[in-house]
Amino acid sequence: MEMVFRKIEYWIEGPANKQMIQDRETWTRAVYFKKGLKHLIFFGLSFLIANVFLSYIIGVKALTNIITEPVSRHWVGFSAILVFSLVFYLVFAFARELVCTVVCPYGRLQGVLLDKNSIVVAYDYIRGEPRAKVSRHREASAGDCIDCDLCVKVCPTGIDIRNGTQMECTNCTACIDACNMMMVKTGRPPDLIRYDSENNIQSGIKSKWNYRIKFYSVVLVGLLGLMSFFLLDRAPFDTTILRVPGQLLQENEDGTIGNLYRMKIINKSSFTRPYHLVIRDSATVLVYAGKAVDSLASGQGIEEMFFIRRPRETIQERKEIVHLDVYSGAQFIESKKVTFIGQY
Ligand code: SF4
Ligand code: SF4
Repeated sequence: MEMVFRKIEYWIEGPANKQMIQDRETWTRAVYFKKGLKHLIFFGLSFLIANVFLSYIIGVKALTNIITEPVSRHWVGFSAILVFSLVFYLVFAFARELVCTVVCPYGRLQGVLLDKNSIVVAYDYIRGEPRAKVSRHREASAGDCIDCDLCVKVCPTGIDIRNGTQMECTNCTACIDACNMMMVKTGRPPDLIRYDSENNIQSGIKSKWNYRIKFYSVVLVGLLGLMSFFLLDRAPFDTTILRVPGQLLQENEDGTIGNLYRMKIINKSSFTRPYHLVIRDSATVLVYAGKAVDSLASGQGIEEMFFIRRPRETIQERKEIVHLDVYSGAQFIESKKVTFIGQY
């Protein structure tokens, strides 16, 4: 809202106080054009967000099918894109702060995470008070706030930031812009309302790196590092191998004992990859029930059945472990362990 939609709105229609004046006056063609352009861009962005959101749920491939194939074949998917686009558009164009203050639980949660060192949109009451309107009778001891109420008028959630930090504040900074404009107009230094902490305002010291900010930064860098490691270390295949239940073992004419397994493989990478299994024990062989899979396309999942056969004389115990290595070409991916039943 603040980093994209509000920025576009300010870029097309100007800051909040200018928009208020413009909305009160009779709308000219230029105003209609600006508003139309804004809503068109808002809907376009909402459409993009809806596509990204849907691709997260159903996958990029399914979404590409919805986009490229005839609408008649994807009524549900197509309707979902439209409904999501409309919801995002209504949220960003109209509901806005109502979502932050009424719907979103994070807003409530954030309130309890703040303390006097938290950097928030804050009014410098030391400098601003006692507030007094600009007049001939204004006392010299009056503060910098000229009590114009512009910060209240432009606030989308209708609060008065001069009363201190409130849960309804979405940090949109409209009050900062409005107040700075008044400060410039009346020849006062800007930033009577600014990003700052309660303690900084009270002490008059500029905000600096405190221990908490340093600690959070270290935690954040650590988490980013961990996430990058997991992303880079992510196996391209998801392989599950289970012995087929119900059938204990097969005694073959060539003197080997066989167990039947079912394997499910999914290629989680973004491109086609070669695939094969290798059994570590040279005396043990792997016999596919059908044609062995040698490669998988991106996102493709398949199921395969195969036997593991071992010479009877190499079997020591009723239940033994067999190691299978998953390879993609020459690259080792992971090792799998399966149980092998060698005796009744
Ligand atoms: S108090 Fe200021 S920053 Fe907070 S919501 Fe209102 S205008 Fe936006
Ligand atoms: S906009 Fe600034 S000067 Fe005007 S009332 Fe708000 S804090 Fe005071």
